[in-house]
Amino acid sequence: MVNPTATLLTPLITPNLNDYEFLCHSFNWKNEQNFLTGLPGHKGLNIAYEATERYAAGKLKDTIALRWIKKDRTTKDFTYQELHRLSSRFANVLTTLGVKKGESVFALMGRIPELYIAMLGALKATAVFCPLYAVFGPEPVYQRLSKGDAKVLVTTKALFEKKVNQLLNRLPFLQYILLADEESHTNQKILSLPRLMEEAYDGFFIPPTDPEDPALLHFTSGTTGMPKGALHVHGAVLMHYTTGKYVLDFHEGDVFWCTADPGWVTGTSYGVIAPLVNGVTNIVDEEEFDAARWYSILEEQKVDVWYTAPTAIRRLMRMDILPKERYKLDHLRLICSVGEPLHAEAVLWGEKMFGMPILDNWWQTETGGIMIANYPTMKVKPGSMGKPLPGVEAAIAEVTDAELKLITEPKQGHLVLKKGWPSMFRGYLHDEERYKKCFRGDWYLTGDLAKKDEDGYYWFVGRADDIIKTSGHMVGPFEVESAVMEHAAVAEAAVIGKPDPMIGELVKAFVVLKTGFTASEELQLEIIGHARKKLGPAVAPKEITFVEGLPKTKSGKILRRLLKARELGLPEGDISTLEQS
Ligand code: AMP
Repeated sequence: MVNPTATLLTPLITPNLNDYEFLCHSFNWKNEQNFLTGLPGHKGLNIAYEATERYAAGKLKDTIALRWIKKDRTTKDFTYQELHRLSSRFANVLTTLGVKKGESVFALMGRIPELYIAMLGALKATAVFCPLYAVFGPEPVYQRLSKGDAKVLVTTKALFEKKVNQLLNRLPFLQYILLADEESHTNQKILSLPRLMEEAYDGFFIPPTDPEDPALLHFTSGTTGMPKGALHVHGAVLMHYTTGKYVLDFHEGDVFWCTADPGWVTGTSYGVIAPLVNGVTNIVDEEEFDAARWYSILEEQKVDVWYTAPTAIRRLMRMDILPKERYKLDHLRLICSVGEPLHAEAVLWGEKMFGMPILDNWWQTETGGIMIANYPTMKVKPGSMGKPLPGVEAAIAEVTDAELKLITEPKQGHLVLKKGWPSMFRGYLHDEERYKKCFRGDWYLTGDLAKKDEDGYYWFVGRADDIIKTSGHMVGPFEVESAVMEHAAVAEAAVIGKPDPMIGELVKAFVVLKTGFTASEELQLEIIGHARKKLGPAVAPKEITFVEGLPKTKSGKILRRLLKARELGLPEGDISTLEQS
C-alpha cells in the first residue's frame, strides 16, 4: 500500500480532510451548506452566484478566476470580478431575447472564454445550460438540440456553417443562434454575440432560484447505449463545493487544472464550477492532449492540483519523458484521475514520476459529482477507487428487476448509492420510465459492478453490461485488462466476451503494444501465459488481437461495446462520442 501523506503535501498545507473516519461520523450536509452564501434575501441557491458573484466584491475580486491558454500558448486572464460582470451581461442578453426560467441554452464550441461566460450567465438567468463537444458531427448535434428543446445555441461561425446551418429547418424550436466570433447580426435569428454583449448591462439581478430548479443538462451514452439527457439542479453546487474541498483539496491561492472538456460532465462540474465555488484559479487549455505542452503547462502555470483521466495518463506513460527531470513541478501537490479504471500500474507510475500516487476517484454523469475517492490523507491501495465521500452512502448489492439485497461480505455485486446526495440527477429528459428503472426504493443503481474489501475500499469490476460470462464465471474486463497490462510489451488493453458454444463467452483481448515491440504469435502466447499465471486459465484471455489503437469516447473511455459489435459484425449503434484519432 502506498501512504501518500509523506510525499504528497508540503508541510505548510494541511489537507482539508484530515481524518476520514472522523469526518464520516460527524458529517452533515447542512453544515457544509453553511459554507455557501445563498442568494441575498434568502432567495435560494444559484450555482453561478456561488461561483462568481459572492466573490466579486470581496477579497477575491482581483484573484484570477479563469486563466485561458490559447492554442498559440498566449494567455488571457479573467478575475472573479470580470467573470461576474461578463456572465451578468450574458444573463442580460438571454433575458432580452426572452429566455425564461428552465428554457435550454446550448453551447457548441471549443474551450474558449465565451463557453464559460455563457454557462455562468445562463445559470444566472436560471436557464438550463447544455455544453456540447465541438467535435460532434451534425447528426449528434441535431439529436441533442432537438431532444433538449434548445431555444438558444451559442457557437462559432465555423461550427455553425459546418454543423448547424444544414439542421435549421429540422429545429423549429431553436430561436436564436449567437455567434461568438461574428461582429454583426446576420438576420433576426443569427446574431452577433459580441454585439449583444456590448449592448447589455453589467448588472444582473439573479431571480429567486430554488435548489431544485434545473440548471444543467448533460447527455451521456455511457459506454453502452443511446444518449440520454441527465438533468441536474442548482442544489448540486453543494456537492461541487464539498468535493472540491475534500477530494481536490482546494486551498486559498491554488492553481487548478482540470483537463476535461465541459462537453463531458467532468469538464463542467470540475472544469468550471467546483474550482470557482472554492475561490481558486482555474486553468483552461484550448488545445487537445499534447504531452510536452501539458508538462510545460504544469510547470509554467505552477499548477498545484491537477485533475485528469486514465486515457491521458496512459499516453504519458507510453512516452520516454521523465517529468521530474525535465520540468520544474514543485508546485504540484495532488494529481487526481477519473473516468475509467486507473490501473495499479498508473498509480505507481505517478509515485515514480511525480513523487506522489495518482489518486483515483469514481463518479458518473448521473451522480453530478465525485462519489468515491482516494483522499490526500488516506492510504492508497493501487487499483482501488477509494472510499465514499463522507455524506455519501455506497454499497454493493444483488439486484433483480424487483428488488435489491445489500451484500456485506467482500463479494462482487452492483454498485449502488443511497438517494439524497445533493448532485443526484433529477431525471432523464423525456424519459421518466428509464429514470425510474435506475432506482430500487431508496437506492440508485449505478450500472457498474464493484467489490468492497474488508477495509471499506471499493474496487471497480466493470460496467454491468460489459461483464463476461465464461465457463460459469462472471469476469470483469478491468481485472483481465489489468493483468494483461502488467506485461512489459502492453500499452493498452480492452477485453470483451465473444459468444462461444462451449463456454458461453470466450475472453478476448485487444492489445496495443508499446513502441519498440512487434506483434507476433510468440508475443501473443507470452501475454496469454502471463495472464494465465495471474488470473488462472478460466479467466485469462483465450484470444488476443493486436491493434494500433482502441475506440474511445471523447472523454477517454474504451468503447468495449463497439469492439464487440465490430468483432461480431453487428450494427455499431450510437458512436457520436467516438474520438476520431
Ligand atoms: P460518464 O457518465 O460518461 O462519466 O461515465 C461514468 C462511468 O465511467 C462510470 O459508471 C464507470 O463505469 C466509469 N468510471 C468513471 N470513473 C471511474 C473510475 N475511477 N474507475 C472505474 N470506472 C470509472
